[in-house]
Amino acid sequence: MQPYKLDAKGNELLAAAGKLAVEVIRKNAADVDEAARFPRENIDAMRNAGLLGLVSAGDMGGHGQGLRAAAAVCETIARECPSTAMVTKMHYCGTAVIEKHGSQEVRRDIGAGKLVTTLAFSEYGSRSHFWLPVSSATPVADNKIRLDANKQLITSAGECDIYVWSSKPTQGEGLSSIWCVPMKTPGLTVGKKYDGLGLRGNCSAPIIAREALIPASNILGEDGKGFDLMMGIVLPWFSVQNLAISVGLMEGALERTVKHVTGQGYEYSGSRIAEFPQVRGYVARMRTRIDMCRALLIDALDAIEQGREDATLRVLQAKVSGADTALEVLDMAMRCCGGAAFRKDSAIERYFRDSRAASVMAPVSDAMWDFIGKAVCGMPLFA
Ligand SMILES: Cc1cc2nc3c(=O)[nH]c(=O)nc-3n(C[C@H](O)[C@H](O)[C@H](O)COP(=O)(O)OP(=O)(O)OC[C@H]3O[C@@H](n4cnc5c(N)ncnc54)[C@H](O)[C@@H]3O)c2cc1C
Repeated sequence: MQPYKLDAKGNELLAAAGKLAVEVIRKNAADVDEAARFPRENIDAMRNAGLLGLVSAGDMGGHGQGLRAAAAVCETIARECPSTAMVTKMHYCGTAVIEKHGSQEVRRDIGAGKLVTTLAFSEYGSRSHFWLPVSSATPVADNKIRLDANKQLITSAGECDIYVWSSKPTQGEGLSSIWCVPMKTPGLTVGKKYDGLGLRGNCSAPIIAREALIPASNILGEDGKGFDLMMGIVLPWFSVQNLAISVGLMEGALERTVKHVTGQGYEYSGSRIAEFPQVRGYVARMRTRIDMCRALLIDALDAIEQGREDATLRVLQAKVSGADTALEVLDMAMRCCGGAAFRKDSAIERYFRDSRAASVMAPVSDAMWDFIGKAVCGMPLFA
């Protein structure tokens, strides 16, 4: 019984994601990590299974599923390859924005699985404070907008088709504006890809924009109202899917930990590692921490869908809980699997490195705890 309570179509798509995860994504995971390469064949397989159009509206050729199904798919993929799950998550985040504010043409192409999107928010000038972009969008002749930016660390940079892009407003009040920017726009270049510690397959890289021209009609939402869009759409989609990825990553690590401690042992006595009560204690804590995160994940989805009063709190709690719990759980997995994990004999070490990313992805965990504290104390989040 899957805990997400999806409708029949959602269950069918989740089953397809599960099949892909085991038959395709698992096989590629080690190589994607080792080579720090974009998981192209995984994304192609997802396209063929209709999963790239998961959250696009039915009349746009998609499956009309929502954040709940997106979270379920991200968790399923993250069990095998958190990098692929992160690429997928960013695509669903970008799609959610475009579904609400984008052109029919782009929405149709995403619904048909022809386009992959990502969020291009973080910048060298504002680092993890994505709600305060310093890059510019300047109106020029022919109803065009000129973009100039130094984006810092963008998932799927140069590999996807559409960036959901932040800038300062073209004029007036407001913190930001959001744009639909085709990856091939002249004036955009992808910087050197990072030789990252974890999530190496999501191919994060800087993106430099110099006099990159896009039609003014590519604005998503209103000029200067980017903050509302970031908080209203991006934050819930980003935060809840991030928790789902953390849950999947921890499940993947627990499965491999249990296999190791129950399968490996001591020749001199014939006993297995799992016969140490201390090791079973770690396994028990891992299971319990994961189940607590999953309960929060399902409750966050319920809160958002039901428009509950605590929905914002749940959204804030989602990402940081998954991120920080994954650090603890993967630390325990490394300990249980000992030298085998340290020597990279098992995939545990990959999950350990991948688990480090969520807490430094914006909003970073330290900022999130502060936001939650402010919310609980009745203080404004961004004052
Ligand atoms: C694998 C990966 C993929 C990414 N993909 C994308 C992407 O697709 N799109 C995108 O836009 N960005 C992406 N990012 C960038 C990410 O969102 C952050 O902007 C970036 O990782 C944080 O950068 P920084 O360390 O320079 O932040 P800094 O702001 O320098 O933060 C460093 C540390 O300072 C502290 N700190 C910062 N702000 C606060 C605060 N308000 N309160 C308390 N403490 C604080 C925290 O301890 C934090 O860890 C990605 C990052 C990673 C690691």
